[in-house]
Amino acid sequence: MPATTYAIALGSNVYGRHGAPERTLAAALAAVGGVLAAAPVIRSDAVGPSRRRYANTVALIASEEPPPALLARLKRIERAFGRRPGRAWGARVLDLDIVLWSQGAWRSAGLTVPHRAFRTRGFVLHPLARIAPRWRDPVTARTVRQLARAVDRPRPRS
Ligand code: ADP
Ligand code: MG
Repeated sequence: MPATTYAIALGSNVYGRHGAPERTLAAALAAVGGVLAAAPVIRSDAVGPSRRRYANTVALIASEEPPPALLARLKRIERAFGRRPGRAWGARVLDLDIVLWSQGAWRSAGLTVPHRAFRTRGFVLHPLARIAPRWRDPVTARTVRQLARAVDRPRPRS
């Protein structure tokens, strides 16, 4: 294993230049690079007048960057994929979040690792449990598998 790894969460729920959300996620993984493992994509079918589809996944990546440098790079990738500020909340071509860092916890202006919300998000924990079940959250000392068991498995959203 590389010296330093991250778990990152990827989400998309509108069509972008790469097409449907699933295609956006695959292209985003290629753009991030250093992918060691990628979980199966959780997706939902387009339903209703907006025809919005959701796709989420989690990947382990090798990176020696400190967390703020990785976040800056992820934000550049989001912009390159067409994410624009000012869109209606919830509609996003690409969202890239840092979930865990192998070096432990990090806190600086605008960045908290582990991600503050990941312990309650089934669409992050269930994919993560497929690829890193024994990774231990440095804040709660619980493993990803334990955290995932405590939250509902995500169901296709409509
Ligand atoms: P969401 O919380 O839905 O991912 P945004 O992608 O708009 O919302 O992120 C809002 C801000 O959260 C980012 O600009 C970033 O500075 C901050 N942030 C704090 N911790 C993290 C993290 N671990 N990963 C990604 N962004 C983070
Ligand atoms: Mg984000």
